[in-house]
Amino acid sequence: MTTQTTVHVKEMYPMFINGQFVTSESGETFTVYNPATGQPLTQVAKGTKADVDAAVAAARKAFDHSRWPSMPFSKRARLLNKIAGIMRKRFDELVQIEVLNTGKTIGTAQGQVMQAIEDFEFFAGAIVAHTGETKPVPPGFFNYTQKEPVGVCAQIIPWNYPFMMAAWKVAPALAAGCTIVLKPASLTPLTALVMAEICHEAGVPEGVLNVITGPGGEIGSYLVEHPDVDKVAFTGETLTGKDIMAKASDTLKRVTLELGGKSANIVFEDADLEAAVNGSLFGIYYNTGQSCEARSRLFVHESVYDQFLNLFIEKAKKLKVGDPFSTDTHVGAVISRGQLETIDSYVQEAVQEGAEIAFGGYSPTIEGFENGHWYMPTVLTHVTNDMKVAQEEIFGPVVVIMPFKDEKEVIQLANDTKYGLAGAVWTKDHARAHRVASGIRAGIIMVNCPFSVFPGLPFGGYKQSGFGRELALETLDLYSETKSVLSYVGPKPLNPFGV
Ligand code: NDP
Repeated sequence: MTTQTTVHVKEMYPMFINGQFVTSESGETFTVYNPATGQPLTQVAKGTKADVDAAVAAARKAFDHSRWPSMPFSKRARLLNKIAGIMRKRFDELVQIEVLNTGKTIGTAQGQVMQAIEDFEFFAGAIVAHTGETKPVPPGFFNYTQKEPVGVCAQIIPWNYPFMMAAWKVAPALAAGCTIVLKPASLTPLTALVMAEICHEAGVPEGVLNVITGPGGEIGSYLVEHPDVDKVAFTGETLTGKDIMAKASDTLKRVTLELGGKSANIVFEDADLEAAVNGSLFGIYYNTGQSCEARSRLFVHESVYDQFLNLFIEKAKKLKVGDPFSTDTHVGAVISRGQLETIDSYVQEAVQEGAEIAFGGYSPTIEGFENGHWYMPTVLTHVTNDMKVAQEEIFGPVVVIMPFKDEKEVIQLANDTKYGLAGAVWTKDHARAHRVASGIRAGIIMVNCPFSVFPGLPFGGYKQSGFGRELALETLDLYSETKSVLSYVGPKPLNPFGV
């Protein structure tokens, strides 16, 4: 069944700076497309360095000269809940814009928008518990620590989960009392701009949240280097993350990075094979494989390899690719023509290296969506872990399925990657599940489960998947400085030099 779109997409989306929607200083715009049709969707303001300066100045002023950073926690918590409430009212609109701008399926977008709303609600509760401590000190002294907002935060986000990523960044920063300059990806800036509108409507003061749009290589980079920015939080490609970290070092900005992955999904011989197949299909093809935690390296015990592979392909054949607004579609569009070409070149190169395409491996034509960007759910076999297709992040619906012999070998294989974001284990042997979970050097492990994201659970990587944890209580520490206050409370005045 195809859902009717009721949303009104505006002809032009301005940026949001200092509490107002504004055009770019240059007056220029850029086109945003619908990946499912390949057609232009709308125009968005193309920000310049002058716009970045204006946004940072607004955020700086709101941090240094307004009552926002020192507003009582309970008041900020109320504001976050109010934002979530407006989002709930505008749920269908947010979902539809997200589908139009990303080509993801409506069910996927609904789940992600709901998650984003729950993130605001989570941080509304969490901030109240994010308090300082009293530390033990010698008699005559008294100490307390207090959490203070880190300052002006530059937040740069990717195109794969536009609204949810915006929520992961904005909600904890607002909760902690920071001010924000958010830069969404140029392919998918729309729902972040709607988020700005909602925050404004809820009463977030001017200058506290600013959203700028435009090319990351120019304005994103300039934002990262800006001397008035205190912290950079980035999600995206590992190479961009390295560039950002280098540029942020000049002014020693606080940096958190959530980068790429090549996560292992391990199926032991005693697993419930049907559940493991179902979970593994979701683990790779959810969001059209465009997830940093996509479980793109599937290791199956050699004794059940053929059985698993056959069942996996049988079920992959049932996945419907196409109209994102149809409620029975499983796999939506790929974000752009360029990304489609990247995915296919990985597959073709793998074949040249000796891999076999067991299923998929091509762009299908979808009736009524002939100019959209589509790629079949793809299964590659005869792959070894050292091949490029098993080592590099493809960011598309492509899985490599490799056999393994024993637990020790598979832990080694799972760790044989520069990344360390996620991993999954399928087995009925709980002791083994937790041995493997602790053996894999990654930030998120799933046991007999395909899901990895819940508000409150820390999300982030080891190794070149980045550092810092999002979505959890500890995230608030990454938007805070801890101040230690030591005071003398003894009866006689101190004279440490004895002079
Ligand atoms: P990028 O890392 O290039 O982009 C992510 C964000 O950073 C965007 O907002 C982008 O802006 C901005 N940006 C780009 N260059 C700079 C820079 N030099 N300084 C500051 N900000 C910058 O990822 P892409 O969107 O280009 O995707 C490329 C690949 O990255 C994908 O194929 C995929 O493999 C991987 N990726 C990984 C993600 C993850 O969550 N791990 C998410 C998305 C992509 P703009 O959009 O204007 O370029």
